[in-house]
Order: sequence, then structure tokens, then C-alpha cells
Amino acid sequence: MPLSEFELIRKYFSPVAVRPDVLLGVGDDCALLATPAGQALAVSIDTLVEGVHFLAGVDPESLGHKALAVSLSDLSAMGAQPAWATLALTLPDADAPWLEAFSRGFANLASVHGLELVGGDITRGPRSVSVQAHGFVKPERAMRRGGASPGELVYLTGSLGDAGLALLGLQGRYLPPQGLSLVRQRLERPWPRVAEGQALCRLATAAIDVSDGLAADLGHVLRASGVGAVIDVEDIPLSPSVSTHVAETGDWSLPLSGGDDYELCVTVPAERQAEVEQLGSTFDCGLSRIGTIDSESGLRCRMGDGRLVELNSGGFEHFV
Ligand code: ADP
Ligand code: MG
Repeated sequence: MPLSEFELIRKYFSPVAVRPDVLLGVGDDCALLATPAGQALAVSIDTLVEGVHFLAGVDPESLGHKALAVSLSDLSAMGAQPAWATLALTLPDADAPWLEAFSRGFANLASVHGLELVGGDITRGPRSVSVQAHGFVKPERAMRRGGASPGELVYLTGSLGDAGLALLGLQGRYLPPQGLSLVRQRLERPWPRVAEGQALCRLATAAIDVSDGLAADLGHVLRASGVGAVIDVEDIPLSPSVSTHVAETGDWSLPLSGGDDYELCVTVPAERQAEVEQLGSTFDCGLSRIGTIDSESGLRCRMGDGRLVELNSGGFEHFV
């Protein structure tokens, strides 16, 4: 006997009360949430659609993790501290093992960040997952896209290109010489830079999370700030697999235009270089200086010998 919608909610999304600011969680018409005085509520929603954002048959526990991770990544890029989430699920059927694994992946990542699931919705249809995440940030600290100025330094957490490489591997278009499993973790279980974003917001003037490729996402910062930038591509950290791919193909599109990496790219005033590098040395994922903001419009990606790398795509776009 398939479970009803209400039984599904009770079984897989029943309240785990972890936060005193949740006055009323799952189970009523609305959640009632208490926001802290002096902080802004940072809100972001993302949808993952089967066949567009994830492959059919993907491990449901990984999907539960990733659905929350991508929204936490947006909070991180604002410097916000995660607090609550709502979850809208559209499913072709009430597959109990699938739901059990999905909700476990979601709940495990939520508990790492002290986040509480406070509501949601379940409907029947082609599989898709929407997560709205809510967090807190002092409004004057929030890292907006429009805050970068010429002369500032561009920093990046972690490394780029692994998620794109994993996708090539899963599509059978390139086999990473170091194996698929390492990079596959980065595609299917991205680790949002939550603590890093909250720490960087004391120093950064602008930030974005790299979800659609560095060139496209840094491009948003440049346009919003009315500036340009030079990126020294050889200063972008690459895993051994991505580094091999770039060396073999001479193609920089994985690190520059590959999506789904969920690293943070921030701009920092030059006079705070020592401070930000000291801070970055405490990050497990690392923090690298990859370029400089200037006043010439657009993004220029430069090799060590001064040649510019041609950017072949502006990142993933749904409607073109
Ligand atoms: P309504 O008809 O008022 O929208 P629902 O029957 O959709 O109510 O949901 C009942 C309760 O269960 C609500 O509190 C809702 O937030 C919660 N809920 C529904 N689906 C989910 C889900 N996937 N995750 C968490 N909570 C959920
Ligand atoms: Mg509903």
C-alpha cells in the first residue's frame, strides 16, 4: 500500500526541533519563526530538476544533500548564518526507500549547520526538488555583488572544475585518469563554504558563489559593480584530475566555465591582503588569490606568458 501524502510527511519530514527560534515548525499551515533583532533575514530558493540539474537514477541520499547544499551556498555567498529551510518535492511516485535516503541526505547536512526544516510541500509529477534556505546576516555585513572597486584583489575558496569533470565522466566523454569517484563526490555532494562565507564577510567588499562557472559568476559581480577584472588562470587551484585535463586538452573551460563547483569568489581591498590571507590559511578548503579588479570593462583571463584565454561560453543558461 503506497503511503498517503500526510503519512509521507510524518514519516520522512517530521519535525526534529533543534532551534528555539522555531516557534512552530512542520505540521500547521505556516511555520512561525522568530528573527533575531538587528539581523536581516537572507532568503534564497533553488530548484533542481531531473534531467536538467541531476541525472535520472542519481543516488537519492546525495540528491538530498545537494538540494540543501546549493541553497546553503547562496547563503554563504551573502555571509549569512543558516537557520531554516523549506522543501518542495515533486515526485513521480511515493517510493519509500528513495524518500528515506533523500531525507537522510538532507537531514545530515542540515544538522551539520544547525538548520531546521520548518515546512514544505509534496506534489506528484516529474521529479524536482526546491529548497528555500533562510539565514541571518547583519545587513551592513552582507556581501552584495555590487561592492567591488578597481585595485581590489579577487580570492577563491577551494578549487574549480571537478564537478564539470565528473559530469564529462558520467556522460562517458572523458575518463579522469585519477578515477571518477573523487570528482564525482564534488558533483554529487558539494560542500557549501558556510563558515568561510561568514568569516570572509568581515573583509570582503563583494562575493558570489560559483555555481554556473567562474567566468559567468564573476561576470555578474563585475557588471553589478561597474568594474572589470584580470584573472591569472594559472593561479586557480585545480585538482590533479582537472589539471591533467587542462594539460592534455589545452582547454580551460572546465575551471573557467564548468558549473556546480559551489566555491566562493570574493573581492577584498588590497590593504587587507595580509589579513585575508591569514584568515584563508585557517580554511580547510584553502583560499587563493586569483586576480585583480580594474576599471577596464569585462573579464580577461590571462596565462603566465600574458596570452589571454578565449572564453567559449558564458556559463549555463536555461533559456538560450
Ligand atoms: P497545506 O495544504 O496547508 O499546504 P500540506 O498538507 O501541504 O499543508 O503540509 C502539511 C504540513 O507539512 C505543513 O506544515 C507543511 O509545511 C509540511 N510539509 C509538507 N511537505 C513537506 C516536506 N516535503 N518537508 C517538510 N515539511 C513538509
Ligand atoms: Mg501544501
